Amino acid sequence: MLAVEDPATGQRITAVPDCGPAEVDKAVRAAAGAWPAWHVSDRHAALTSCAVVVEEAAPVLAPVLSEEQGKPLHEAEAEFAEAASRFRYFAGLRPEPRADGGGPVAAITPWNFPVQSAVAKLAPAFAAGNTVVLKPSPRTPLTTLHLGRMLAQVLPPGVLTVLTGRDPLGEYLLAHPGIRQVDFTGSADTGKRMAAAPEWRRLTLELGGNDPAIVLPGTDPAAIAERLFWSAFANCGQLGVAVERVYAVGPGYDGVVEALAAVAARVVVGDGRTPGTQLGPVNNRPRYDRVTGLTDEARADGARIVTGGPLDGPGYFFAPAILAEAHDGMRVVTEEQFGPVLPVVRCSTVDEAVGLANATAPGLCGSVWGADEEYAAEVAARLGSGTVRVNAHLAMPVGSRWSASRAGLRA
Ligand code: NAD
Repeated sequence: MLAVEDPATGQRITAVPDCGPAEVDKAVRAAAGAWPAWHVSDRHAALTSCAVVVEEAAPVLAPVLSEEQGKPLHEAEAEFAEAASRFRYFAGLRPEPRADGGGPVAAITPWNFPVQSAVAKLAPAFAAGNTVVLKPSPRTPLTTLHLGRMLAQVLPPGVLTVLTGRDPLGEYLLAHPGIRQVDFTGSADTGKRMAAAPEWRRLTLELGGNDPAIVLPGTDPAAIAERLFWSAFANCGQLGVAVERVYAVGPGYDGVVEALAAVAARVVVGDGRTPGTQLGPVNNRPRYDRVTGLTDEARADGARIVTGGPLDGPGYFFAPAILAEAHDGMRVVTEEQFGPVLPVVRCSTVDEAVGLANATAPGLCGSVWGADEEYAAEVAARLGSGTVRVNAHLAMPVGSRWSASRAGLRA
């Protein structure tokens, strides 16, 4: 069995099956067996039923998600709401069948948005007529396992199987010859390993990044601090498209740092199930140690911890940290931290900031913040990130920032 941990206490909640090659084989065979009838069926009703299942599951499973992932309850509820709308959106689509057929898809998810990431894979796969073997992260398997069982009740047998277990369960799944496509969200390192695997697979890789944000000279820090802060610290910074590093240009640097630190100091950090909590614990010990290590390393190299850092007590609590006088010689700047720490780099010119932003893996998103939006857009166009925005990063209203962040498809 695989133990599931509560990151707020470090204690074991329960245990789930620790599957291996035999379970993989059984699930993939079931998925292959279900595919011929499933892909020629009208799947509109099934996808709509999935949306209803997700909605009905939310009151029961959102607390479970909050417990195993750490996030505040209202954010766990938001994951379910986004997931339900994803199923409804895809229920309304009629994708053309692929000329090269379809078949069992291996869906592999990370621990930061277990429900949202799972449904972001299931809904399009089902709409396209594929069957799915879903493998959640071993750090957050519980909610996905429960939800998968509930969804399987409104789907033909074999269309969806959830397999929980320790690594290398994902590798067993990928290596199974019955898998036709892999839909993966996780770290760039794992993605690289998958791309290099000897088996031929159609791969969809949604990986990490190191998103930069540039604050232009003359920007009023008070006008942007709250939005910029939450663009970095939503979901405790455990978000693929979070701001990971800020480049503040000109004499306004100190004001930007102070304004971000003021927001950080007001944030309520606590158990996700406690009403009023805005940031829960970091999800797991290795991530907590990494964030602590990167912060310590930066401090030793001259960064100033204006506010935040590890908190005493059980669980993996870490108050949101703002690091002043950070620079591109520090790993906290050049690597994705994926946690509640934000380095702010001092720049003299906009050219310098753009150069530094682009010098390191430029990230999934990038943003430029300033009063003159036309000029900010010109600067944004020089960033190498996949998506660039002005005066926004996640481009979502506060409160649902991350819940729709993956869904360019609804824009
Ligand atoms: P991870 O790569 O360690 O694990 C992701 C999943 O892959 C887990 O289910 C894991 O068990 C599985 N896995 C690990 N090695 C495997 C292998 N060799 N073959 C098959 N499966 C394998 O990532 P993580 O720590 O769970 O998640 C954090 C990372 O995910 C961050 O880098 C983050 O940026 C990224 N992420 C990106 C997005 C996005 O939208 N692009 C969203 C969420 C997370």
